[in-house]
Amino acid sequence: MEASEVKKMGYECFATYPKSLLNKGTGFLTDYTHSLNPYSGCSFGCTYCYVRQMPVSLFHKKEWGTWVNIKQEAAALLRKELARAKAKGPVTIFMSSSTDPYQPVEYSEQVTRSLLTVIAEDPPDFLLVQTRSPLVRRDIDLLQELKDRVRVSMTVETDLEEIKRAFTPNAPPIAARLKTLELLAAADIPTQATIAPVLPSSEAFAHKLRAVADRVCIDDFFMGDGSGGKRTKKLGISSLYEKLGLPEWYDPSAYQLVYDRLTEVFAPGQVLVSQKGFAP
Ligand code: SF4
Repeated sequence: MEASEVKKMGYECFATYPKSLLNKGTGFLTDYTHSLNPYSGCSFGCTYCYVRQMPVSLFHKKEWGTWVNIKQEAAALLRKELARAKAKGPVTIFMSSSTDPYQPVEYSEQVTRSLLTVIAEDPPDFLLVQTRSPLVRRDIDLLQELKDRVRVSMTVETDLEEIKRAFTPNAPPIAARLKTLELLAAADIPTQATIAPVLPSSEAFAHKLRAVADRVCIDDFFMGDGSGGKRTKKLGISSLYEKLGLPEWYDPSAYQLVYDRLTEVFAPGQVLVSQKGFAP
């Protein structure tokens, strides 16, 4: 890539040739047989991203958020691996655990779309698509083919754009994510709004989500980073809360506050907590 292009985009791209794509579902993803990451690295570069503390990031020389590895020949590899896995038993896939499948590079590279094409042709028992990007709308045609074997989980950690900007300046606007949930639901694609992690939000948040989703998953740093909050603590996120004058939101009680607001608006069974909310 030209240096000027890197500067304009804010991240560098590299081509990689993985030996496998389907990884065993472990830890937080034990409810899944496999996880699937079309890319490694993620240019959204959220401040609180726990992947920063994982080997994929720690062993990379460049800072998390500034690089993306584009997996080459991914569709052909998945086609083989998926057939092999399905021959052994039920297959449930979480896409993605350590990258966003619809980050900006997907506009041009379309690795995720190529994988979804394979999945639509030879469907697993279940696919969860985890993203915070409105680009997932582009693939409504493929998602529709999966009928009730798919759910799109859209991260909406707050309804306050200034809070989003403080924690995840490179991530898509909140309004675009809410609109995307609305469009997916109108296309009969199962969805959920995912508040993960819980960030400071307004009292109206639950109502805004109820207008576009009938299922919500809520998770926080203390339940959901795979280490009881230790990984997040190492990232020094608490200082950001203090800088914003909102230290009380960096506490397990913040989850309880948002949970209570949600259960006033959503019906019983529509609000799922932590791992349960991501399960197939
Ligand atoms: S979108 Fe997800 S994977 Fe990407 S930086 Fe943010 S939290 Fe990490």
